[in-house]
Formats: sequence, C-alpha cells, structure tokens
Amino acid sequence: MSRTAYVNGQYVPLSEALVNIEDRGYQFSDGVYEGIAVRHGVICDLEPHLDRLGRSMDGIQLEAPMARAPLRLILKEVVRRNKTRDGFLYIQVTRGVAKRNHAFPDFVPPALTITCHRLDFDRLITLAKKGVAAHSTPDIRWGRCDLKTISLLPNILAKQEASVAGAFEAIMLDGDGYVTEGSSTNIWMVGADNTLITRSTSDNILPGIARHIVKEIAGELDLSIETRAFSLKEALAAREVFLTSTTSCAMPITIIDGKKIGDGQPGKVATALLKSFVERLDQQA
Ligand code: PMP
Repeated sequence: MSRTAYVNGQYVPLSEALVNIEDRGYQFSDGVYEGIAVRHGVICDLEPHLDRLGRSMDGIQLEAPMARAPLRLILKEVVRRNKTRDGFLYIQVTRGVAKRNHAFPDFVPPALTITCHRLDFDRLITLAKKGVAAHSTPDIRWGRCDLKTISLLPNILAKQEASVAGAFEAIMLDGDGYVTEGSSTNIWMVGADNTLITRSTSDNILPGIARHIVKEIAGELDLSIETRAFSLKEALAAREVFLTSTTSCAMPITIIDGKKIGDGQPGKVATALLKSFVERLDQQA
C-alpha cells in the first residue's frame, strides 16, 4: 500500500515527500516534534500531545504553523489516508526554509510535516512477557530536555551504545549517578509497598505523556507514587524497573548492565500497568 505524508499543506506519497535542504530542521535541528499512538484507527491522547507540542514551540520561540482545529483535521486525514489501524503519528515543526544563518529568519513560515507508520502493539505485549534489557550511560544532553526538540543526537548515541551492548534502551545518568530518563523513554522503579518511583519533571527530563498516563493508572490500581530522583544503584536493587513511552506503553526492564533486576522476570506491577495501559488505549477507540 502506498503511504501518505503531509508536507507543508499537501498530502503526498511518502516516497515523494521531500523538504528543502535549507530547511532549518535539516541544517540546525531547529524544530520540535510529537509522537502519538493510533489504536484501532483512533488517535490516542491527542490533546495532551498537542499541549506539549505547543509548549515545545513556545520554548524555542517557534510560531505554530496553524491553529489546533485544522491540525486535528489534518492528523485525522493522514491516519485515514494511510488506513492506519495501529500506528505512530509523527508531527514535526521546524523554523522553515531560509538562507543558512544561525539567528532566526524574519517572515519565514514554520514547516510542518506529518507521517504515520505502523506500530505493532501485539509485538509489544509479547516483548513485555520477557522484559527488556537496559544499558546505563552518562546523560550528555543540553539543559532543556523538557522540550521535545528534534536535536536528538545525544539520545541517538545513547540508544546506539545500548543497542551495541545488546540492550533495548539506554538509561541516562546525571553527574551524580542518578537516573534522568531513557534515550526515548521515562524510567521508573518499584520500591517497598509497590510504590512507583520516577524522577520529578524539571528541565532535565521530558514530561512523557505515557508517564502521565501511568500516574493516572497507578491511582486506579491504588499504587502510590513518589516523584524523586533515584540512583542507578537503587534501580539495580529495586524489585522492579520499567520504562514508559507512547510506543512502549509500560515495559518491564529485567536486566540493567547485564545484572538481573529482582529475579530477572517482568514484575507484577509493570505487567499490571501495561495491561491497564493497553486497555485504556482500547477504550479510546
Ligand atoms: N523521554 C524522551 C527523551 C523521549 O524522547 C520520549 C518519547 N519521545 C519520552 C521520554 C517518552 O515520552 P512519551 O511518553 O510522551 O512518549
């Protein structure tokens, strides 16, 4: 099936979707993005994602390419044209096309591109039955990790390092050995009394939408939450560790740096959270 992308006002076949080489996203990583799950053809948790997109654009003084109402319609149209049942909708906004110069250009409209790819939730559920391995690495990112910018080079290098080490995700550590977040996920551990512990939001982690959803689910499951930093050492000694993201929902981490977490099997808490997470996505359809 030929896939469709949205590029600056037009729906085009994905294979023909092109941007100008002087797009500031291409030359400077001067842009922001969002990634949203599509489940049974429905765009899930759209409003919090659009809120975060707005916050990211404001954070880099980037003008919104359009109002929310037409953007919602375009997103639905991209899903419709791709006949997406389960997928990942990607929105990118850059500071547009201009002669290369670091300072912002005047009177240049932002560039908006949207793609939608398949996301296999069944594969995810199967993966979660075994759990995934993680690999720790220093967090070498800039000071505004709360903004979802397309400047992802440190994240990519961290993920590649994890991948070479045979791990699914990189767990990034601040200068004091505390976990900030994953290269593309938020990280949690389960403490005594099944309390969920995750770093509080500040400028050094992305406020994940899945992180927020897990907080809501935890309330429903009567699990308490502590938002505080925890060290790699604490994570290694925790009953359970798991990660959250739009594409991984809640995924048990069973190994960090080659060492088993708990008995090395996916924990009860993370497994229950994943089940409720997927049910919640299903309910939006
Ligand atoms: N942290 C980082 C660095 C990320 O890139 C992502 C996903 N883009 C997340 C956390 C998880 O965010 P979300 O739950 O909104 O997918």
